[in-house]
Amino acid sequence: MGASFVRERCAATAGLLRELGYLLFPRGCAGCDTPDAVLCGRCEAQFHHCIPFRLRAGVLRSGFACALYRGVVRNAILNWKDHGDEECDAVFIATLNRLFDDLLAGCGRVGEHSPDAVIPREVLIVSAPSSASSLHARGRSQLAPLAKALCAHANARGVRAAVVPLLIVRANSKSVETNGADQRAQRARRTICINERAIHAEETEACRTVILIDDIVTTGATINRCATVLTEHGYTVFTALALAYTPSKHGYMVA
Ligand SMILES: [Zn+2]
Repeated sequence: MGASFVRERCAATAGLLRELGYLLFPRGCAGCDTPDAVLCGRCEAQFHHCIPFRLRAGVLRSGFACALYRGVVRNAILNWKDHGDEECDAVFIATLNRLFDDLLAGCGRVGEHSPDAVIPREVLIVSAPSSASSLHARGRSQLAPLAKALCAHANARGVRAAVVPLLIVRANSKSVETNGADQRAQRARRTICINERAIHAEETEACRTVILIDDIVTTGATINRCATVLTEHGYTVFTALALAYTPSKHGYMVA
């Protein structure tokens, strides 16, 4: 009996037990644990915002988030992201699509009126990449279903969109000696890289404007690193959309 056979049987049994668990103990809200809801109305309402946050120079617009990362929002995102609550996919898909509609409507309260701020007719949707180890731990890219759904939503709104994995996290080579802080910092900066294979995709040749997506924006370091890598490779980053944003006192204040 092979190890893979045992693993498959274990996975099947675990799945069955989980299903049985849902039957015996109906699930609670991912945000507040109210019974019988994936995300209850009160928690879901916390995601109905359009909160601008500052991005690096060169990105055409501010980034936007659906919610502030705290309380029930934080619970729901952590349950979805780190505890495998895939039933939240549908809620977060709707949330991000609504944010896109806000963007399309011009987000009037932001007060940006330059021609550059008009949403382009063609965009590439690029997710902030996960490392191989977190992909392995979570068993999937939690942003992938959101990116795919946002792409379909944008197309339905008349914006030609394609999901392209333009960014990857390069595995850190353990064999490389790192002497000194400079080298370490340089290596950290290089963790997110362009995905050379995706550059030559048909859509990518035709369109150079990107909307980045991520789940949580905290200091902005990751999303800005994504923007920098894309800009260095000739792409224009239009904006970044996130589920939630953590306001910080270190300069990434709400735009
Ligand atoms: Zn709730």
